[in-house]
Amino acid sequence: MPQLPSLSADDLRSYHAQIRQRYDAFAKRGVKLNLTRGKPSSAQLDLCNQLLSLPGNGDFMAGNIDCRNYGELAGLPELRSLLATVFGVTADRVIVGENASLSLMHDSVAFSMLKGNCDSERPWSKESRIAFLCPVPGYDRHFSICQEFGIEMIAVPLNEGGPDMDVVEKLVAGDAQIKGIWCVPKYSNPTGTVYSNETIERLAKMKTAARDFRLFWDNAYAVHHLTAERIEIANIDEACARNGNPNRAFIFGSTSKVTFAGAGVGVFASSKGNVSWYLKRIEKRTIGGDKVNQLRHLRLLKNADGVATLMDKHRAIMAPKFDKVLETFGEHLGSTGVASWTKPKGGYFITLDVMDGCAKQVVKLAKEAGVELTPAGATHPLGNDPHDRTIRIAPSFPDLAEVAQAAEGVVLSVLLAATEKLLA
Ligand code: PLP
Repeated sequence: MPQLPSLSADDLRSYHAQIRQRYDAFAKRGVKLNLTRGKPSSAQLDLCNQLLSLPGNGDFMAGNIDCRNYGELAGLPELRSLLATVFGVTADRVIVGENASLSLMHDSVAFSMLKGNCDSERPWSKESRIAFLCPVPGYDRHFSICQEFGIEMIAVPLNEGGPDMDVVEKLVAGDAQIKGIWCVPKYSNPTGTVYSNETIERLAKMKTAARDFRLFWDNAYAVHHLTAERIEIANIDEACARNGNPNRAFIFGSTSKVTFAGAGVGVFASSKGNVSWYLKRIEKRTIGGDKVNQLRHLRLLKNADGVATLMDKHRAIMAPKFDKVLETFGEHLGSTGVASWTKPKGGYFITLDVMDGCAKQVVKLAKEAGVELTPAGATHPLGNDPHDRTIRIAPSFPDLAEVAQAAEGVVLSVLLAATEKLLA
């Protein structure tokens, strides 16, 4: 595999011709593959098919709570206890509800805009300007929530151990209009980054000009390991409390990629003050969540061990797909000098960085060859990757043979785009 940038013009032209031929041959296969979104595969969903017949005829009591009736705004206590162990917060400070977590994140922002949070002087919407820090690359749906509410997004670099804390600390200390930061602390979307203990401590401790600043702590991949190493991160709730900032973290999570995506339960966990603030808001919009769904989750998962055992089964399906992509990238792009990629130990994504100015072209070429990728730029606020470099790869949904083919299509598109760029 040649180092493309150091090839002579003649060698580069002949290499380009070879790649063009291989790309055309791939495109002729007429495949239709999709690596766009981090969806569980059918084989993963099958792991929880028992949910379709749970809680079962006649099973509707959780202790003395009749799940068929109104009530329990914060969710079933037994499920709150179970999920409290996953998210590292005491059960009385966990709310389970909705069908997933994005709506809880959306509502936390919406409620803050409308009412302010429990430390705000006024609703955020009454401020002249509101800004959030957005570690990049990041999750497009976080950015969409900000866009929806006119919240300015300030991109900050995401380094190996989390956001660049020198940058974050400086910004939040100097600007009282910065009210939040999006954090995916474990197996981040899309890089797989795991926040270091030092980063977590600094986020918990840092001085913020805004009293009502919040960490939007989206622990979406808390138990979604891809290796035998079940990485644990520092407890943000405990760190915030210890540093005198007990209200700082809004913690989110869900069972979307544990049980059924879209038919699971969402989690909001935080301080007493934040939980009671949140409950005050939602009591106006609902008399209680879907406790029958919560009960069937309780019956299926049972306890933290039940979650861990299930996640091992997910891993057995997911890990070979990630391995296949990484192996294909390694084999065909390894020493070409035109791409680098992350090797996540969990989560749902691989980040592929291509030559500057090539990401859009790679996505276009891949699409023309039958491999759909997340649009280039989606990893950055407003879809604007200033280097046009970063591509999110989501290998979870297709089966292994399809993932192998898709990875080949991606590799050929990367090499074609790079050689075209170098020859231009
Ligand atoms: N947060 C992150 C970081 C994600 O990657 C995703 C899905 O891809 C979600 C949240 C969506 O979570 P939910 O299904 O709980 O709404």
